[in-house]
Amino acid sequence: MDKDKHKKLIKDFPKSVVKPAPKGKFGDYVPHHIYTQRLVDVIPGEYNFFYEVIRGKDNSIVGAKCTLIIEGLGTVDEVGDVDMNALNRNITESELLKLAVSDGIKRCCMRFGIGLELWTGGITEEEHYASEKKTQPNAVKPPSVPVKSDADKSQDSLSPAVKTKASSASQDSSNPIKVLQDANFSTKDLNHPNGKKAIDEDGLWCPCGTKVNYIPESQKTSAKGPDFRCSAMGQCEVGDVVDGKRFAKSWWIVDYKKETPKIWSYYVQALNGVVMPTAKGMDDIKEGEAPF
Ligand SMILES: [Zn+2]
Repeated sequence: MDKDKHKKLIKDFPKSVVKPAPKGKFGDYVPHHIYTQRLVDVIPGEYNFFYEVIRGKDNSIVGAKCTLIIEGLGTVDEVGDVDMNALNRNITESELLKLAVSDGIKRCCMRFGIGLELWTGGITEEEHYASEKKTQPNAVKPPSVPVKSDADKSQDSLSPAVKTKASSASQDSSNPIKVLQDANFSTKDLNHPNGKKAIDEDGLWCPCGTKVNYIPESQKTSAKGPDFRCSAMGQCEVGDVVDGKRFAKSWWIVDYKKETPKIWSYYVQALNGVVMPTAKGMDDIKEGEAPF
């Protein structure tokens, strides 16, 4: 894509299409069809958009995994949410899907720098609203773990080991290796998928060489916020670049990009008091004794 076209693509939306935030809501916004119009106007035939429906436990639509491909710029995946109010409003499936997909389109566009000026600190009006709702007792929990790959499913089937109320391991998180060992998790693979160190006695590590913070649910500022974030923030050398701005590398426990080290998920399980059943070493097993 040439410079001129790219400039047109990510140009700030004109004030005339920016709608003020509805009362009690956060941030001005641009309706999703204006985003689509931008793509149609500037790069007709040079983009592709598709989505997969995400359903909740009760089979209702809770989101959509959206994919936007722009020729010469690449591919982004984002999960579009359904507004919490909509879930409570008893609207039709197709309306729910429309909400999720239109949110997803905006998120995908943002990743390419379109409408970026409307996002404050990486939080959308939808996210802000969702996190407000989260504190209300009857709010529907947003799908913070929406997309499950086969790998994640197999992981789930391994996890319901022995749950303890509060294991001694969960009290001390300063040495992740000890936390893992105390909960009987394997500490064989301590690396990122690319082979860089992901965890050691001192903490969790970003491929850029900086410490990674684990962000428990209770400390998240938004429902869809990452579970792990590189502490180098804007200086992180492996973070995504959006419109020339660099963001800290972030990871989610349920991760359809398969970037999150398995060992981190084990670490979080251990912190939450999950203890794996121990298998005795073959040498320790006496005749007639069960290996567990
Ligand atoms: Zn980093």
